[in-house]
Amino acid sequence: MRILVTGAAGFLGSNLTDRLLALGHHVLGIDNYATGEHENIAHLQGNPRFEFHQLDICTPFDLGPVDAIYNMASPASPPEYLRLAIETLRVGSVGVENTLKLAEKYKANYLHASTSECYGDPLEHPQRESYWGNVNPVGPRSVYDESKRFAEAMVMAYHRARGVNTHLVRIFNTYGPRLHPSDGRVISNFIMQALKNDPITIYGDGTQTRSFCYVDDLLDGILLLAASDEHLPVNIGNPGEFTILECAEEVLKITGSNSKLVFAPLPEDDPTRRRPDITKAKNLLGWEPKISLHEGLSRALPYFQQMLAAGH
Ligand code: UDP
Repeated sequence: MRILVTGAAGFLGSNLTDRLLALGHHVLGIDNYATGEHENIAHLQGNPRFEFHQLDICTPFDLGPVDAIYNMASPASPPEYLRLAIETLRVGSVGVENTLKLAEKYKANYLHASTSECYGDPLEHPQRESYWGNVNPVGPRSVYDESKRFAEAMVMAYHRARGVNTHLVRIFNTYGPRLHPSDGRVISNFIMQALKNDPITIYGDGTQTRSFCYVDDLLDGILLLAASDEHLPVNIGNPGEFTILECAEEVLKITGSNSKLVFAPLPEDDPTRRRPDITKAKNLLGWEPKISLHEGLSRALPYFQQMLAAGH
């Protein structure tokens, strides 16, 4: 198949691109490098089944017929989407519609990368797909949350009104190689700090929770969902839930670091807990994650060691 991947130079987009190429597909990767990195796709230079175009999906584009579209383009780490506030809102609205128009034109299968942030600071725990969420529509995080919620509405509208074969994956915190060492997310911050023996920065008191999924597990789920007949959102994440303090301890264990913990203010509207209910993915796709946090951190460690050696 000829497959369009937006955000192909990002953490998930580049890992997905590798997976699609390994399955024998032809991938058209696009990225505007707002948060993506050329480094993530440099190894694909010269691959005859990979083509890269530096494009912003907010400007209409057309690279010819495609069989499938994976729309992975968006800033995704809190410091990055706060820095790129308007760009984040635009990529989830204008950008998503541009890619949906292509899916309609070429009758392409369409998968959109949505997020557990659609649930905001959830009042229901764990989060099932049927939960409508608790989002502050005007707080600093609203640029991401509302962009992603609008995108889901737009995707469903193109499915219902235009018959596009769409899929919505609600991605929970994911980590692995190519998670940018300085994008500010908890796993990358903690590992880099631990490797440098710098203080580990715990925001708030560290009792807030997240559930971390290793990238390979996530990609398994995404590919199964894209091949399914499901159009409504499906959670893909690892239900193993950890406090941020537990996450720091795990990172210290794996790196053998002497870093101390330091406490810093909690960002505004930082969700207090997050954990996917994956019953729907299990029943529908026969999917569940296989890689524990301990195992996944060990697998990701060499990448962060390389980043450190490269001066990050
Ligand atoms: N966090 C932290 N220290 C850091 C980075 C993040 O304590 O150096 C916390 C953050 O406040 C949040 C959690 O870790 O409660 C996950 O943050 P991340 O930015 O990775 O993603 P989020 O789930 O908030 O989108």
